[in-house]
Amino acid sequence: MYGSNGKILRVNLTERTVQTETLDSELATKYIGGRGVAEKLLRDEVGAGVDALSPDNKVFIATGPLTGTPTPTGGRYMVITKSPLTGTIACSNSGGFWGAELKFAGYDLLVFEGKAEKPVYLSIEDDNVEIKDADHLWGKVTSETTDLLQKEYGDKAKVLNIGPAGEKLSKLAAVMNDRYRAAGRSGVGAVLGSKNLKAVVVKGSKKVAVANPEKLKEITGAAIKKIREHGVTGQGLPAYGTAVLVNIINENGVFPTNNFQEGVFKDAEAISGETLAEKYLTKKDVCYRCPIGCGRYCVVDDVEGGGPEYETIWAFGADCGVKDLGSVIKANYWCNEMGLDTISAGTTIAAAMELYQRGKIKADELNGAGLEFGDADAVIHWTKAMGMREGFGDKLAEGSYRLGEMYGMPEVSMSVKKLELPAYDPRGIQGMGLQYATTNRGGCHVRGYLISPEILGVPEKLDRFSLEGKATWSKIFQDLTAAIDSMGLCLFTSFALGAEDYAELLNAVTGSEHTAESLLTAGERIWNVERLFNLEAGFTKADDTLPKRLLEEPMPDGPAKGKVHQLAELLPEYYEQRGWDANGVPTSAKLQELDIS
Ligand code: SF4
Repeated sequence: MYGSNGKILRVNLTERTVQTETLDSELATKYIGGRGVAEKLLRDEVGAGVDALSPDNKVFIATGPLTGTPTPTGGRYMVITKSPLTGTIACSNSGGFWGAELKFAGYDLLVFEGKAEKPVYLSIEDDNVEIKDADHLWGKVTSETTDLLQKEYGDKAKVLNIGPAGEKLSKLAAVMNDRYRAAGRSGVGAVLGSKNLKAVVVKGSKKVAVANPEKLKEITGAAIKKIREHGVTGQGLPAYGTAVLVNIINENGVFPTNNFQEGVFKDAEAISGETLAEKYLTKKDVCYRCPIGCGRYCVVDDVEGGGPEYETIWAFGADCGVKDLGSVIKANYWCNEMGLDTISAGTTIAAAMELYQRGKIKADELNGAGLEFGDADAVIHWTKAMGMREGFGDKLAEGSYRLGEMYGMPEVSMSVKKLELPAYDPRGIQGMGLQYATTNRGGCHVRGYLISPEILGVPEKLDRFSLEGKATWSKIFQDLTAAIDSMGLCLFTSFALGAEDYAELLNAVTGSEHTAESLLTAGERIWNVERLFNLEAGFTKADDTLPKRLLEEPMPDGPAKGKVHQLAELLPEYYEQRGWDANGVPTSAKLQELDIS
């Protein structure tokens, strides 16, 4: 097989066995790879009824056919499992170098089954694969685990691991790789923790076979040129990282502030990408074969490391009312060390701040620490406590929805399907709100980034307050994203590249004959498999919704003043576009058309 090694590594942690299997080439063609193939296997092998933290759940760590190839940003991997935070299908992906190294070792997909009796890690050095005891790693933060494993296996070895948050089954736990890169969302780190799996260290010496190397060189060159010449991927992201968005989103009045109570943060400039570059940035932190280079590396006092991203700056900054960027960088640092999703961690603290503001949480629960909006020390303190599940941090580790429930106010959780929302208030961006409501893994921004047309005007400017065309655009973005993820490329390339470009890259690597249309169909197939999994897990149309505040409380101020999200008007059109019935269930005609069994 081209683009893939054709090999699955299946690890049974209960039995302590490892075996290799052949990747079904028909399945790989139909579902592209990574996200698509692993999700199909999760549905077939595990099923939606499984308890996410039981040994019966499985974790699939997948690469795409372009992972480890010379394609621009071809370094991504994905973690697929049932989410302990949401109960939905979970797929979190990450950049860095670990995914490419797994391909170099000769594997496309790792499957972890069962539960180890005591802490273990997996070492992969080409064909030499071993399950090893991890007693010396258990309890360690992610940088220490990485240091210890690289001391043993050398600097060339790439390390993926969980921190204390994953070990302690926090529903906000991430899987970390290459120190600062995270497969962050949906609590996938807790599923590794539930299996007593601390890390996977990998070292490979092979090359990924490419069907048409000359053609690939030509297409890759043209794609890189487009990426470099585009304003977003050639200028904005390289200069200021994703935090370039802080001022833009704030000026549009959709920068959620104080747990989405407002949409304009008056101190946005203090936490902007420009301020970050001026005061704290020391270098870039770039992923495998990336011509964009959005990753930051910052130093403040005795703390240094990768990040923070736009979403992180917002979650610990505006959403908690904090204007001290140094403290935000420190909170980001502790998320990386603990192995926590920065979006869910920051926004869960913001929800706790609102519960405190409303008198639900009392000061005597907090052991002397603060919990008021704007308290910069509090975000650092509670991030650490959440990671260690210490004191009130134990409640925070359950995520904003369950925290709200504990205090009788689940509506303070700004989440969809219990996944905390990212940094865009949908009251002033109607298409983005439809994305939040319909995304299979819950409220996230990377399954259909309509900010691109609605705010940035890419590939064309859409009126963000209008409902017209939003259902159609949502479907196209969601399907294309599923295809890009499954290939193993970074989503940021899509500012500059279109479906034709991706089809050409995939064809040159794998020898397939995709067109833009067939690529979108494969994405649609993946989307529908995810939807079926969720329906089988008990989700219904009622779960395709937004927090009450966003539907009923008009935006109090700024350019989006007076707006609410008009989901009820958009949802039926979206279902129709998808070929689903009025309850959001894929029709048998649609499943037949997509050849889904
Ligand atoms: S754009 Fe950023 S996240 Fe994407 S591959 Fe490049 S450095 Fe990594």
